[in-house]
Amino acid sequence: MSEKFTGSFTQQEALSEAAIEAAMNVMRHGRLHRYNVIDGELGEAALLEQEFAAQIGAKYCLAVASGGYAMATALRAVGVKHGDKVLTNAFTLAPVPGSIAAVGASPVFVDVTEELTIDLEDLASKADQASVLMLSHMRGHLCDMDRLMQICDGAGITVIEDCAHTMGAAWNGIASGRMGAAGCYSCQTYKHVNSGEGGLLITDDAEIAARAIMLSGSYMLYERHLAAPAPEVFERVKFETPNISGRMDNLRAAILRPQLRDLGRQVGRWNERYQKIEAGLRDTPGLTVVQRPEAETYVGSSIQFLLLEWSPESVAEVIARCAKRGVELKWFGGAEPAGFTSRYDSWRYAEPQNLPQSDRILAAIVDMRVPLTFSLEDCAQIARIIRSEVGAVYQAG
Ligand SMILES: *Cc1c(COP(=O)(O)O)cnc(C)c1O
Repeated sequence: MSEKFTGSFTQQEALSEAAIEAAMNVMRHGRLHRYNVIDGELGEAALLEQEFAAQIGAKYCLAVASGGYAMATALRAVGVKHGDKVLTNAFTLAPVPGSIAAVGASPVFVDVTEELTIDLEDLASKADQASVLMLSHMRGHLCDMDRLMQICDGAGITVIEDCAHTMGAAWNGIASGRMGAAGCYSCQTYKHVNSGEGGLLITDDAEIAARAIMLSGSYMLYERHLAAPAPEVFERVKFETPNISGRMDNLRAAILRPQLRDLGRQVGRWNERYQKIEAGLRDTPGLTVVQRPEAETYVGSSIQFLLLEWSPESVAEVIARCAKRGVELKWFGGAEPAGFTSRYDSWRYAEPQNLPQSDRILAAIVDMRVPLTFSLEDCAQIARIIRSEVGAVYQAG
């Protein structure tokens, strides 16, 4: 009898007692709206912004309703307008082109490499097509950020970083989100901190920060922020910036603050699990593990491997055989978007684009979530199951 994994790929850990206590406090006083504070009180949302800015080393921070909202707000705040083109990754998830569509702009997709990062050659060749790059650090893989910034600075391209999968990650010791003009994070349940929904936007640019705060629906209450630029910056933008409500509330902020204090420890736990699975998959014939660059500090909250040059039928068979043994794998090469996967050609509101290199790689990407509820033994078992099923199909083909 072959072994079967019986755990859940979607079960999160419970919130800590500190987070539960903080939420109870907010519910007991009832001031859930971020600007509903009594004399001398610092609201949870404002404190969260102040703490995250300090933790990540940014001048300004804004907490909002979702990661996707943070990205659309950053695009608006840097001046992207209806009809503009915005460069972005061909390998990413739907909220990324969605944030571009939200501001009436259209995505220009850039190829993905076998390292699962944005192809810098393709980026350089498309640099004249747009003045903004929405850079998705998809599944936590960081490209050579020094080279990317060199290309973008040289071409006058403003970079916005989508750090939905890289909260806690760094390139050469610089936190993900700190090299572009703005960094956007998600606090949605499946990311690195969990408030159900939520997002954070960081920047060192005073005007971007002031516009983002006005956009999020601050009315004229921006002086209640603790990680915001000086009032005179708001004076310059407040009459020309629309209110597109998307604030975070004090309840979510309250449960996020203790989680951010715990982020370093959680990153360590993710990476133990990731490394266990990676070690179990290494040197499996037909399977390519993604080599992590020396300069990258990553967060192994998910793992990917490649079945390069496999037929679609064989990849589908591996997925089905693993599923039978309790291991849920996602495939980016499926003809139809399924679950959380989708491909650039399924975003049909964007102009059709031809990316044969990306097609080849997307057809090979198999993706798996690594929840912290997995034990290290679970991780070893999952790797054994994948290894044996990949092996069985590979030998038969
Ligand atoms: C989850 C996610 C987002 C957006 O986050 P939400 O908080 O769900 O809006 C953005 N980019 C990527 C790659 C994501 O996976």
